[in-house]
Amino acid sequence: MLNIVANQVSSSVDWLGLLLLVWLAVVAAIVVWYRRDIVRLWREPVLKLPVLVLESDDWGAGPLSQASALDDMAAVLRRFRDSTGRPPVMSLAVVLAVPDGSAIAVGGGTYRRVCLDEAPLTRVLDALKRGEAEGVFSLQLHGLEHYWPDTLMASDDQRVLAWLREASPASTESLQARFQYRWIDTRCLPSSPHPSAAVEEAVREEVEAFRRAFGRTPAVVVPPAFAWTPVVERAWSSSGIECVVTPGERYVRCAADGELVDDGERFANGDRSNGILYLVRNDYFEPARGRDAEYALRAMRRASSAGRPCVLENHRVNFCSEPAMRAHSLQELEKLVACALSLMPKLRFLSSSDLFHILKVGDPHWIMPRWRDRFPYFWQRLSHSGRPWKLLRLTGVALLGGFLLRVAPIQSTELKSHPL
Ligand SMILES: [Zn+2]
Repeated sequence: MLNIVANQVSSSVDWLGLLLLVWLAVVAAIVVWYRRDIVRLWREPVLKLPVLVLESDDWGAGPLSQASALDDMAAVLRRFRDSTGRPPVMSLAVVLAVPDGSAIAVGGGTYRRVCLDEAPLTRVLDALKRGEAEGVFSLQLHGLEHYWPDTLMASDDQRVLAWLREASPASTESLQARFQYRWIDTRCLPSSPHPSAAVEEAVREEVEAFRRAFGRTPAVVVPPAFAWTPVVERAWSSSGIECVVTPGERYVRCAADGELVDDGERFANGDRSNGILYLVRNDYFEPARGRDAEYALRAMRRASSAGRPCVLENHRVNFCSEPAMRAHSLQELEKLVACALSLMPKLRFLSSSDLFHILKVGDPHWIMPRWRDRFPYFWQRLSHSGRPWKLLRLTGVALLGGFLLRVAPIQSTELKSHPL
């Protein structure tokens, strides 16, 4: 009798052991399959404090109404300070030229540009410089133009040809999307890459134009429409640019249907390649499209709980369209900054350039060094990773990990200090 019981117990143990082995094999397979995503979540630096970076694109060469819009935006921003006395900063991606419509109209098909440091655009340039001097703007490169001039000049689309010949400085936003791409050749779709020599020359020109306007080499660049290539990155790096803002991926071509296609690379804050460090925008503040202060505050809460900076995307169109929309966008900007400070007393305002320098040197005043402190944030990031997290939940690893996080003393004081 005892032998029978002993055999049954032994058999159960064997079965349990087998099940455990199968479970471990399944978990290992999930981890191996998603290793690149998991490693990326782990290596991304964890910030000790909640950080808000506001980024707005397309400013500079274009409609002269930008000058008053910039002044209005600066007036809102300078009303606030974080606990260190620093105002919120709008990191503005600047375009340095638009078509000189009058000159093109009489030029017999030759492209001519008017630059930001030339009349009548100096009004906009002065507003940009005023805001920077007050510490509420930080200026970064968007592009010499928000398009590739040869692509527009070669077009037989009458709307494009009329746009090139507009008498007043034109808005690139009114062009079809495929004509707003700078770093891929969209004369025919699917697109093709520009020759490397043309890219290198165009980068040299745009960095020189930025230096002429602002007296320095830009540290940070925001690729127009997030369409760019490794060839462009290497040219930027050779010209002294050190940081590229990305949506977490790199769109390198335009398909036959006009959709942008990425090259499969995925980026986290602080990743590097081709002599460039990447910053990742993680959400939006676009009141004109319904992504208002409430929406942005939710994004801040998510970013803070994952130990990430909240890097929000915005465009000038929010502040440069009709007066009612401008007023609404300014109100939402004020609400966003005021509510963020009230919800997160430890919040810090940084420019993209500030954040880049912190990540570049791994500044220990801002970045958590110990794995024990970083782990809860890594777990939070993993819980928003989509399919890997679903599979970890199905296998019970998510439940087990959550339990261990609650009972094990590895939760850092920094996490507890995050107000949200
Ligand atoms: Zn843009």
